[in-house]
Amino acid sequence: MSYKLDTLCVQAGYKPKTGESRIPQICQSTTFFYGDTQAMADLFDLKSDGYFYSRLANPTVAAFEGKVAALEDGVCAIGCASGMSATSLAVFTVAGAGDNILSSQAVYGGTYNLFSTTLPKLGIECRFFDPDAPAEEIEKLIDEKTKIIFTETVANPAIVVLDFEKIAKIAQKHGVLFAVDNTLATPVLCQPKKFGANLAIHSSSKYLDGHAAALGGVIVDLGNFNYKNNPRYPSFNQPDESYHGLVYADLAVPFGTKCRAQMMRDFGAIMSPQNGFISYLGCDTLALRMERHSQNAAKIAKYLSKHPKIEWINHPSLEGNKYHELAKKYLPNGCGGMMSFGICGSVENCATFMESLQLITQETHVADVRSCVLHPASTTHRQLSEEDLKKAGVPHNLVRLSVGIENADDLIADLEQALAKI
Ligand SMILES: *Cc1c(COP(=O)(O)O)cnc(C)c1O
Repeated sequence: MSYKLDTLCVQAGYKPKTGESRIPQICQSTTFFYGDTQAMADLFDLKSDGYFYSRLANPTVAAFEGKVAALEDGVCAIGCASGMSATSLAVFTVAGAGDNILSSQAVYGGTYNLFSTTLPKLGIECRFFDPDAPAEEIEKLIDEKTKIIFTETVANPAIVVLDFEKIAKIAQKHGVLFAVDNTLATPVLCQPKKFGANLAIHSSSKYLDGHAAALGGVIVDLGNFNYKNNPRYPSFNQPDESYHGLVYADLAVPFGTKCRAQMMRDFGAIMSPQNGFISYLGCDTLALRMERHSQNAAKIAKYLSKHPKIEWINHPSLEGNKYHELAKKYLPNGCGGMMSFGICGSVENCATFMESLQLITQETHVADVRSCVLHPASTTHRQLSEEDLKKAGVPHNLVRLSVGIENADDLIADLEQALAKI
């Protein structure tokens, strides 16, 4: 029986047996009891399923993982300590020193820093591309050492909607793994697998949790990539000596198994049981929340687009937005709550506007139930040079608004009184 996404949000991931708690318990235990040496050995050899140490897997985290895997139509999900650790582990699962990855230049600021500064220190080069560039231009960056093409469904904070078809064609032609950070769309608005992606990555700290309560990330193996005999991925086709010669490409879930058995074992950036519990509960209402976030944002975008103190506004719901057509194709049920706009006049007007807001608060966070604003050029993107800011699509007067699920009229009234102050 296959269910619709809103049903999966509520029901997937955990099914109690008779007499068990209706929702997952917080399994606050580092380790698990076994009376039998062979049973324990089989777990270590990946011959049987089960829990033995919460750095690798935990029942509460597994409930969350199961839910997200179902929502993304994936074969395996791995709960991570944060969105950043999810992205890091996804890259480390396929790339090492001497390899390179391709990434859209319109990505989350933290991801940009990881790719542009930290990965090169470990010998992994990142080649950035403009996601709006023609396929031929992007394709030119690929060589035999390219291990992953990394993108975002809806880029934070530039609100670029990904042209999945263009990237999927390139990835398939060259047999390169296509990874999508689906944080700001969520599987409710867009399932990357439908459009050819092989990995979906989330910062669950955002919409999945939805309440700004739990940091977390998740990597979903979408189960549609062939590693077997692909010369690009020797680490999947040669025996892993740290796992008694296991060949990952021979397994039912190559990426997911390698990521957990090798990367989680060695880096240990797993989600905590408490955060797994909170994130699991958050997902119960994800479909409902995304509908409201999208409706509110569309209404507010329309209002701001007509305001004389707004120089420009980016929300794909608006006719005439550069990404409106792509949004119709890939985000037919709504574009989510994230938007950015430019305030007219000097940069100081951004501060005056933001400080005058009464309901909408200033926060580094985005994508939870409460509306908030941020000035990326002076915060999240502060470390970037003038040139990199431009590349990331972040002009100095850009204000990012994450629209929550409050009443849209109250939000508009707050924006109106704050804009009147400048
Ligand atoms: C926030 C965010 C991240 C990083 O996630 P953390 O949970 O803060 O580590 C990655 N990608 C996107 C699109 C984000 O918005």
